[in-house]
Amino acid sequence: MNDALLRTFVAVPLPAPVRAALGDLSARMQSGGLRGRWVPPENIHLTLAFLGATEPAAVDRIKEAIAEATARRHPFDLTPAGLGVFPGRRRPRVLWVGLQGELEALAALTTAVGRALVPLGVAPSRRNAVGHLTLARARETFDPDPLDAVLQRHREFIGPSFHVDHIVLYRSELGAGPARYRPLVGATFGAAGVSATTGGEP
Ligand code: ATP
Ligand code: MG
Repeated sequence: MNDALLRTFVAVPLPAPVRAALGDLSARMQSGGLRGRWVPPENIHLTLAFLGATEPAAVDRIKEAIAEATARRHPFDLTPAGLGVFPGRRRPRVLWVGLQGELEALAALTTAVGRALVPLGVAPSRRNAVGHLTLARARETFDPDPLDAVLQRHREFIGPSFHVDHIVLYRSELGAGPARYRPLVGATFGAAGVSATTGGEP
């Protein structure tokens, strides 16, 4: 029975030029000698919620939940900017690019998706409360010297801005090498055709 469960998460996919810019950054960091498990550029995404083990039969209900969470939402813009590590500099395990732009809209989206999933038994997680784009994970922790060099050299990184107007439920398949993500269902913001400034809503 267990092998029928899917591993799923909800994310904002990134347009190809954004993934390409992050891939270039990642390649420069790797050639700087920082060792870790680097996320392939095509896999880089903005996670909103992690569902974990999911019954295939639940996908329709998840689709409805994320459609409801996005029904009255307006598109917004974000810009990849700056770098950071989780959980902190003392034990750096995840290296990420931060975000600038309409962060209140992103926080509202993350909250709405999280709330919509609670009735489906998904425990709310704080882990994605700070929007970030993971570039690499350390096997244990990153080596301090190459990490410091990379953080120093690229701390002013700014990527191409992108428009957020839909979200996707992905299936993640873990195995040897990088995870494989497959889109299952998506939800486009209900107010996608309405610009935030002319939409009538405050
Ligand atoms: P790998 O686990 O091989 O490094 P991955 O982390 O990209 O690959 P998943 O573990 O399936 O693949 O995770 C999919 C997405 O969900 C990623 O954005 C990941 O950061 C996020 N995620 C995974 N586990 C959790 C969790 N327990 N809480 C919150 N987010 C999670
Ligand atoms: Mg993982």
